[in-house]
Amino acid sequence: MLVPFLIVILSACWGSFLNVVGYRIIRGKTVLGRSFCPNCSQTLSWYDLIPLFSYAYLRGKCRHCTISISVLYPMIEALTVISFFVAYYQIDESYYFATFVFFSALIVTIRTDLETMLISQWTTLALIPAGIFFSFADMISIYPLNSILGAALGYFIPWAIGMIFYLITKKQGIGQGDFDLMALVGSFTGVLGVWATLLMGSLLGSLIGGIYLFLNGSLRRNIKLPFGPFLAVGAIIYTLYAERIALLLLGS
Ligand SMILES: [Zn+2]
Repeated sequence: MLVPFLIVILSACWGSFLNVVGYRIIRGKTVLGRSFCPNCSQTLSWYDLIPLFSYAYLRGKCRHCTISISVLYPMIEALTVISFFVAYYQIDESYYFATFVFFSALIVTIRTDLETMLISQWTTLALIPAGIFFSFADMISIYPLNSILGAALGYFIPWAIGMIFYLITKKQGIGQGDFDLMALVGSFTGVLGVWATLLMGSLLGSLIGGIYLFLNGSLRRNIKLPFGPFLAVGAIIYTLYAERIALLLLGS
């Protein structure tokens, strides 16, 4: 009973920290220092920084200036708790650390892309050597060659898709950040991971994006949705259920 409970508490706190990293990394600020309200600059007390609960009892508003706190905070905290909780049961113990690094990078990416439509290269490209290192050190389940190929294809495939899309529609459907993100995904999950993530990311994107556009009225309006969060969630799902998804995609 104690271990699952600890995982929930610790990953909620970690998710809270990832929010701060996401918020600050994209603005080029240090991740150290006390948390403050971005509107009134008041330093926040520890009791206003309790993951999930603070948002609920403050009803999503700053205690000092009552401006709305982004719903991204509890969302990211909940996503961190769910991913780490499932990972604890699904992932082989020897892969825990690498999975922890990978998921943390993906969750920060989700936060920055949802908030600013930007993806930091610090949480994507910069971590590709780590993915390749983990594959050499047997800290992830793929071979080094698969990790290196995954990173290369992860970058190239979405780039090529984007290029074709651009030539046909003259619109940028997929951006630099998505190539960087998929290269990271490839270095941690290999070639099959890239394929599965692109597949699931596109499915999730069309499904949730479709519902979002439907709820927001006209389908003709040119609302831009970031693609990165769908890819990142796809990568998390793939990592958690890699064997089952591989079986599904490749047959037995
Ligand atoms: Zn405030």
